[in-house]
Amino acid sequence: MDATTNVFSRITLTNILKINFKNKEKCILVIICLDNMEHYSQALGIENVQSIIKEVAEYLEVENRGAVYYLHNNTFGILVQDEDIRIADQAARKIVDRFHEPWIYKDMNMKLQARACIIRCPKDASSLDAVFAFMDEFVENKGNDDLITLAQNMDLQSKSRIRAVERAVRRALEEERILVYYQPIYSVEKKRFSSAEALVRLKDEELGFIPPDEFISIAEKNGMILLIGTFVFESVCRFIEENDLQALGLENIHVNLSVVQCMQDDLAIQLLSILTSHNISVGYVRLEITETAAISFPQVLHKNMEYLIKKGIHFALDDYGTGYSNINSLANLPLDIIKLDKSIIWEADVNERAKIVLESSIAMIKKMNMGIVAEGVETREQRDELIRMGCDSLQGYYYSRPIEEKVFLDLLRENMSAVFFQ
Ligand code: C2E
Ligand code: CA
Ligand code: CA
Repeated sequence: MDATTNVFSRITLTNILKINFKNKEKCILVIICLDNMEHYSQALGIENVQSIIKEVAEYLEVENRGAVYYLHNNTFGILVQDEDIRIADQAARKIVDRFHEPWIYKDMNMKLQARACIIRCPKDASSLDAVFAFMDEFVENKGNDDLITLAQNMDLQSKSRIRAVERAVRRALEEERILVYYQPIYSVEKKRFSSAEALVRLKDEELGFIPPDEFISIAEKNGMILLIGTFVFESVCRFIEENDLQALGLENIHVNLSVVQCMQDDLAIQLLSILTSHNISVGYVRLEITETAAISFPQVLHKNMEYLIKKGIHFALDDYGTGYSNINSLANLPLDIIKLDKSIIWEADVNERAKIVLESSIAMIKKMNMGIVAEGVETREQRDELIRMGCDSLQGYYYSRPIEEKVFLDLLRENMSAVFFQ
């Protein structure tokens, strides 16, 4: 039961819907949202508003013979265990009409306004995530003039996906189900893997494999990237601490930093404290940043970089050669390594001019005494060309895809038996 309203709670509704979905039972959820309660809470105070909500709950319960749930923020759910939309529509219309009349509270004539949304399960929403996505979208979308909205008419494709991904990320963080894979980086001089890049992976029970490009950009917008970033960094440090990587020829591991991490004042301190807590030498990790971070938050990033560099951390510039590349960053940022983006490596395969750009970029970067990693090396021809052009390090499917910890350790063991890439 919900404590404020004495009707069923959101948790109860969630459980019933879960069972319905599991048993393939059809039902219709009517969401009722009271729109203008904020005004009243300013004028009358929160306690009065809670009393009004309780009265509304009683009214809804009488009207709908019990199947009423309080969801949150002045929003109710009414569950109709029937697949006939007309029954749900009638119920919704009756409620919306009732609120055209004044609501009397303590002798005051109040003008409440209710909107309704009708969601057919599983026809409109085939999972709990989809139900909540419709609900969130409906509650947020106050601009809609229709007092009754049918979920079937709502354009939710992308929004519902975003919300589902958000929930998947949150679940994965809570349950510590985010994984870190490693993709080896081959050293041309040493003829073995001397480094690797940590790449985050998320597999959700409902959504399956979610590509990092997708969930990271969503997590950057809602701030969850900070938790993901810390989780990845922790995992990498634990991996380094638990394994004798030096004996396997691995000198360092690259970790990606999001733009949002780079704008945190305390980034350097946080990362150093994780490194210290795992008792590992700072030289073991390298941080990959992008130009977007460098351009968007120059001061904070510079300060963080300076501090970390003083402690012995090296930085790589990621995605060099993509749309954002700016020669200024090469000249002004304290970078040790430049990572050539896979797009320019692939473009050079089919475009003579792109090949000239690639070759000149490599020459220029070498002249500045910075290391170069070419990413996205997929073929033997690409490998040979990049070595000829003077690349120090190569990363790509030609050598290995990103792989899980155990498989990566096996690969490193093979790597040490000198015959590997002769
Ligand atoms: P990125 O940093 O540019 O990482 C390289 C991406 O290229 C990875 O994709 C990798 O799997 C892929 N790749 C490497 N070699 C090849 C190849 O030969 N062929 C092809 N087709 N692809 C190749 P992934 O793992 O899907 O990651 C995508 C992006 O997500 C990354 O791009 C990075 O921007 C972001 N990302 C991944 N892990 C993290 C993380 O832990 N933190 C942050 N902030 N971002 C991450
Ligand atoms: Ca990267
Ligand atoms: Ca890249």
